[in-house]
Formats: sequence, structure tokens, C-alpha cells
Amino acid sequence: MGRVYNFSAGPAVLPEEVLKEAAAEMLDYNGTGMSVMEMSHRSAAYQAIIDEAEADLRELMNIPDNYKVLFLQGGASLQFAMIPMNLMKNKKAAHIVTGQWAKKAYQEAKIYGEAVEVASSADKTFSYIPDCSDLDIPEDADYVYICENNTIYGTKFKELPNTKGKTLVSDVSSCFLSEPIDVTKYGVIYGGVQKNIGPAGMVIVIIREDLITEDVLPGTPTMMKYKIHADNGSMYNTPPCYNIYICGKVFKWLKKMGGLSAMKELNEKKAKILYDFLDESKLFKGTVEKKDRSLMNVPFVTGDADLDAKFVKEAKAAGFENLKGHRTVGGMRASIYNAMPIEGVQALVDFMKKFEEENA
Ligand SMILES: *Cc1c(COP(=O)(O)O)cnc(C)c1O
Repeated sequence: MGRVYNFSAGPAVLPEEVLKEAAAEMLDYNGTGMSVMEMSHRSAAYQAIIDEAEADLRELMNIPDNYKVLFLQGGASLQFAMIPMNLMKNKKAAHIVTGQWAKKAYQEAKIYGEAVEVASSADKTFSYIPDCSDLDIPEDADYVYICENNTIYGTKFKELPNTKGKTLVSDVSSCFLSEPIDVTKYGVIYGGVQKNIGPAGMVIVIIREDLITEDVLPGTPTMMKYKIHADNGSMYNTPPCYNIYICGKVFKWLKKMGGLSAMKELNEKKAKILYDFLDESKLFKGTVEKKDRSLMNVPFVTGDADLDAKFVKEAKAAGFENLKGHRTVGGMRASIYNAMPIEGVQALVDFMKKFEEENA
């Protein structure tokens, strides 16, 4: 069986070129006679891999020198705790709750201090991004927390919130490297890599240096201090070696594709094909407010659960995988990350048109 079009929200599609390269290097990486999986993380060969990965990421995102790049384990979910443990000096954080991942981070922060919900879109099942231009942010809040792209419900902040001078912390798991961003607007940018970059099990944290201190909450485990990882170049302990290697290959692929501006253009083109169809379809419809639509995760429904199930089943048989919506929301969701080729989106829309005709 050949490759399918994989619309999984994560772990998700990777560039075929990267997979082929990794396959070719599996038994003998660059003349070392071993796989990257078998290599000491203290070896010169491995140091070159991690250094190059970091340098390429810095170049892609234009990361200033006063930000550290950390490759950590524990996924994005561990950051829900690591952020308050390291950043809650006043034990207070302002949270904008726009979906399930934002809610989980909010609930986790409550374990460590006072987490204040300053805005939410729960009233309309997270189908929009609230106006965040003038929020009531506590004077003594240590930071403002957002989940920038809502993987499950398919919304995206098109404009960052007005934090009233507070540090912005952003979970970018599902929009990482999908378009250029201004790193200087953030204190912390982090994301699990399994959505838009690489294999599951790793998170990349981009953090401004002044936020990395010894002054953490009492009881913070060594492994959960940003400082220990920053001081040791993400190698305090054995890092997720193979993940870093694959991510590094994806960074090179992105550079070859023309960088993040080119990716944005391509992602807009891809999303437009799908959204334009949803807007004209009599059977399918998108579920979020148009102005807040994500370029990465596109949820849609027919309005009939049985017909949704039939669609997912027939799509799978036709080579379109993982279109079932998140288990908590139902319907369908097409995740069209960087590595999803435009042909895949066009083929999906052609299939949806055919399904619509057959089920009119
Ligand atoms: C998937 C996801 C997470 C959780 O990632 P894990 O690596 O499984 O912990 C957190 N935030 C967002 C926005 C996600 O999409």
C-alpha cells in the first residue's frame, strides 16, 4: 500500500523527503557506522546535529540572541506545570481560555497559584477568539497565557492579546512554524513538535533569558527548571536525540521550501481551497467564526452524525485518513499542517464534492 493523505491532528504527516532521508541514514549516519538512535549524545557527531537544528530554527524564526531554545521531553502538557513553576513569582497568572488545551493549562496553573480567567470562548463551544484588546489583567499577574491555535476547535489568534505590558506565554503546538512570527512579542513560545514539526515526545521552548532564573516555586524538580536545561544546552540529561534529529531535518526542509513566509503563503492557499468549498457547500459547513479560522485545523460537519460517520468511513476507504473530529466534539476535522501537500487538500475537496452529490 502506498502513502495515504493523512489529516491527523497529531502525531501528524511529515515531509516525505525527510522520512526518506532518515530511512537512508538509519543504519549508518554520515559514515559513523551507526544510527542516530544508537549514538552517544555526548559525541561530536551528535553535538553537530543538535547545534545545527538550533541554528536552523533560529534562522527560520529569526530568534533574537536574548532568547534560549530548549529541546525538552514531557510534551506540551508538561509545560502546563513547568510554566507556573518557573514564572509565577507573584503566584498569579492571567489565562485566556479558548479551548481544551488552554483549559488544561489553566487548570494546571491553579495547582501552583492563582490562575485568573480573563477571557473565554466557552459560551459558544470555543468557536471564536474573544476580543482581547482591553482585558482586565491583574496588576500583579506574572504573565498572560494563550493557546495560539486551537487544535481541537480550529480557531487561531489573528492578533495577539493586549497583555498590558505583562509577559506573553503562548502554546503554539499546532501552528509552530506555519507562518512568520515576531518572537520579541513573547516571553515564552512553546509547542509539542508532533503537530507541525516532528515525532511525538518532545517540546520546543523558546524563552527570553531574563525569565530563566533560580527563583522558582519551592519543590520544583530539577528536571522542571528552565535554568538547568538552558545552562546545559538541553543536555542536562539524555535529550530526545532522535526527535531532535528529525526536527532538524524538517527545519532544513522548511528552509528549502523558502522559509516561513513561503509556508504562510502555501498554508493560506491550502486552507482557502477547503474553506471556500465549505462556504459554498450545501452539505458540509465549517464550525468556527470566519475571522478566527485556523490555517492548520479545519473542523466541519454535515449536521447529521450518521452522515458524518459515513463520510469518514468512505473517505478512509478512498485514502483520506484521520478525518474524524476530536472525540469530544464529533464531526470531522482536517488538519492541514505544513507537510500536507496542496494536492492532498485538493483531492479531499474533490472527494467531498463527490460525496455531496451522492448524498444530496
Ligand atoms: C496536542 C496539543 C497539546 C498536548 O501535547 P502533548 O505533547 O500531547 O502533551 C497541547 N497544546 C496544544 C495546542 C496541542 O495541540
